[in-house]
Amino acid sequence: MKNSHPKYERTLVLIKPDGIQRSLIGEVIGRYERVGLKLVGIKMIVPTRELIEKHYTLDPEWRVKTGVKTIKGYTDKGLTPPETDPLKITEKILRNLVNYMTKGPVVAMVWQGAHSVEIVRKLTGGTEPLASAQPGTIRGDFTIDSYRMSDQDGRAVRNIVHASGSVKEAADEIAHWFKKEELFNYRLAVDQMLYDVDLDGILE
Ligand code: ADP
Ligand code: MG
Repeated sequence: MKNSHPKYERTLVLIKPDGIQRSLIGEVIGRYERVGLKLVGIKMIVPTRELIEKHYTLDPEWRVKTGVKTIKGYTDKGLTPPETDPLKITEKILRNLVNYMTKGPVVAMVWQGAHSVEIVRKLTGGTEPLASAQPGTIRGDFTIDSYRMSDQDGRAVRNIVHASGSVKEAADEIAHWFKKEELFNYRLAVDQMLYDVDLDGILE
């Protein structure tokens, strides 16, 4: 998108297999829709292993960041992490993630609107439903998973949705999941209230 106004910012959301199985498609879409974000692309896919592995490694820093975050998740609770090397932790997480995300259909979406990356992350909640996902967020309201339980059981944390973590990550992920012609530029009625400078035409 050429225009640099914040209203054109886009982000990628995936409703993960557990979100689909929990019948939360409508609920998830409703939460992003009701703040005024605009759905500009949507499709259902059963992802291949390659699609998911590439998705999580588009950001070369993801392995280290996710390993460090997981270790912090343990130490903040006074628990000992299963590994001290962040990369060894992420190696396992990535393997488990590929298994999790390829087990059934996912819904891939692109949401557009002012500060959409940050707004969607806020509505989605932190990665770990037990601790970092606050009540009121999707991950805080609809599930109860933890690093401790998922690591013990050798699987990925099931947290209903994926949402891009930064504007750069969003651009890379959107290009990874969608072709240009699968995304739509259009005006929504609500755009007038959110973005138009003059609220002309309300009074009759
Ligand atoms: P987010 O999805 O919040 O951006 P990350 O990018 O760090 O989080 O991790 C991607 C996904 O990997 C998470 O949403 C979760 O499903 C899974 N995951 C992350 N850390 C762990 C962990 N320690 N154990 C199991 N699964 C994890
Ligand atoms: Mg992430």
